[in-house]
Amino acid sequence: MARLVYSSKINKIRSFALILIFVGFAFMYGGILSKKIEWLMILLFIIGVLSIVLSCIVYLWIGTLSMRAVPIVCPSCEKPTKMLGRVDACMHCKQPLTLDKDLEGKEFDEKYNKRRYRKEAKKNNPDK
Ligand SMILES: [Zn+2]
Repeated sequence: MARLVYSSKINKIRSFALILIFVGFAFMYGGILSKKIEWLMILLFIIGVLSIVLSCIVYLWIGTLSMRAVPIVCPSCEKPTKMLGRVDACMHCKQPLTLDKDLEGKEFDEKYNKRRYRKEAKKNNPDK
């Protein structure tokens, strides 16, 4: 089931940023190893620095996202968590959460955050 593999968006972005940092360091380490070939060393260092800078940008982005996210208390584990968009998952127990009463009880799906879905929902329910 989808809910088992789904994790909170903020957590997902955060692990992506963490991976970027490791990739950056790996490239820089590669640069140190290949210091005999000067152009390769410089190239690897540039890639390494770029991915670390990128991950810093991603971290800043998470910061702004977290501020926009709605803080709630998870109904199933009763820990505070944050929601992004109309549907998201709890950061602690991966419980799918929704802010939209119309979606309550429906099977969890990432598509509920997409604009196209919202448009279609409007078409089907013009009074909403
Ligand atoms: Zn929870």
